[in-house]
Amino acid sequence: MALAASALTPLNRISNANRWSQVSSRASHSFNVSLLFEKRGIGFRNGIAAAAAASSPSPVIEDISQKEIPQRIYTWPDNKKPRVCILGGGFGGLYTALRLESLIWADDKKPQVLLVDQSERFVFKPMLYELLSGEVDAWEIAPRFSELLANTGIQFFQDRVKMLHPADHLGMNGSTGSCSGGTVVLESGLLIEYDWLVLALGSEAKLDTAPGAAEFAFPFSTLEDACKVDNKLKELERRKFGKDTLIRVAVVGCGYSGVELAATVSERLQDRGLVQAINVNTIILPAAPPGNRETALKVLSSRKVQLLLGYLRQILEADLVLWTVGSKPPLPQLEPCDRPHELPLNGRGQAETDETLRVKGHPRIFALGDSSALRDMNGRILPATAQVAFQQADFTGWNLWAAINDRPLLPFRFQNLGEMMTLGRNDAALSPSFIEGLTLEGPVGHAARKIAYLLRLPTDEHRLKVGISWLTKSAVDSVASLQSTLSKVLSGS
Ligand SMILES: Cc1cc2nc3c(=O)[nH]c(=O)nc-3n(C[C@H](O)[C@H](O)[C@H](O)COP(=O)(O)OP(=O)(O)OC[C@H]3O[C@@H](n4cnc5c(N)ncnc54)[C@H](O)[C@@H]3O)c2cc1C
Repeated sequence: MALAASALTPLNRISNANRWSQVSSRASHSFNVSLLFEKRGIGFRNGIAAAAAASSPSPVIEDISQKEIPQRIYTWPDNKKPRVCILGGGFGGLYTALRLESLIWADDKKPQVLLVDQSERFVFKPMLYELLSGEVDAWEIAPRFSELLANTGIQFFQDRVKMLHPADHLGMNGSTGSCSGGTVVLESGLLIEYDWLVLALGSEAKLDTAPGAAEFAFPFSTLEDACKVDNKLKELERRKFGKDTLIRVAVVGCGYSGVELAATVSERLQDRGLVQAINVNTIILPAAPPGNRETALKVLSSRKVQLLLGYLRQILEADLVLWTVGSKPPLPQLEPCDRPHELPLNGRGQAETDETLRVKGHPRIFALGDSSALRDMNGRILPATAQVAFQQADFTGWNLWAAINDRPLLPFRFQNLGEMMTLGRNDAALSPSFIEGLTLEGPVGHAARKIAYLLRLPTDEHRLKVGISWLTKSAVDSVASLQSTLSKVLSGS
């Protein structure tokens, strides 16, 4: 039987209605919240995600006609060369741009590449937890696009994508004809005409699935989210310093994100905190390899994390609620006149692609990563992971080359290399897919995961800078621990 976190309510609203108005903002006030669990029907696919499915998601991007922003047209440096516009500079978009840069082109075919992202930084999301544990600095896992792209021909524009106007359904095929593939409108009013478009806008936290979640829970999906959670923890640590009361943290969801957060936060708070992890499912990490699940259970139990699985009607009190369930792709609107040619979206709002990663019915639009949907050989939608987006970026770059050069496009095949998770400053679980039954854990798993991610960071220059920084930090840590061991030995304790 599936159960769901059904509401988040400030505690002072329950106990004292008059104080409700004081609790107005998640960022500026500290408050207690209660979690109310309710029994749901049997066969609920994802209780938490579907708990408030009736409430319609608020539009991410508003209609341009409602605001009077003067439109400007982006001028490409060369009006003869193909124009590739990439929307979203994450694992899908940035790595596609870098792949295009690394390919060999005939002079007249080398495309001009424009990368658009709302943020000034690329974010290596799998290492956001390390910001909470203090293991990494923000520049290491969130370098600026301007630095990453400094030695390339890729143009970067920081802006939010507002609207798409594809023209490739108007009888054009995918070849390099001179007609434009369509236009994109950004929030600043800039209009970009493209020949080829790459949609890689990722996904964002979905907080409209339970009443109160949007107002009172903290998502953990972006660099800003991680910084807010870190600040909130610092504030709670300060507030409760020297007091008997525990810092109570509730983590909603026990997929990878929830378990990694629970492990990291419980290690940070140690005996000053109580971490409770809640899941509608009766097991944690239902889709993970058994080795990863067992290692995670061991670590969570050693840190006294309370697991509330498939729980029945209960109110929890917490100082901080971390929300890790549900996500939605922030795909832009199409212009009203394009409605009949809307991008084909699945039930989760992801753009459906064929196996060459082109959006169905749109030969000039490639889509990859979390905001796209492609089925594997067994008919299952590929997971929304960095591993998938990273591999798709390689194919998108190659297929753009093939399309521009009138060569056949390659079908994408996902190669599952295994799964990794952090469980704190010196703990991890790593199950490579090529050695069945093997799980690396503890410091060995932690080091292996860090090396694997170092190799995945974008650009040689950035990898080198981060590699030196991590080596220096680990040398400093080793000296510090040697000093503390020596001083203990010398003092006879
Ligand atoms: C905390 C966390 C931990 C994770 N850990 C792992 C892991 O261990 N292993 C793994 O494989 N995967 C992991 N993932 C998932 C992985 O990060 C994503 O699957 C991956 O980032 C998807 O790549 P993407 O390019 O589709 O999206 P993203 O990397 O999210 O990039 C999307 C980009 O689009 C930009 N954008 C969005 N909307 C707009 C707009 N309207 N206008 C302009 N720009 C916009 C964003 O700023 C962002 O830069 C984790 C995710 C999170 C949140």
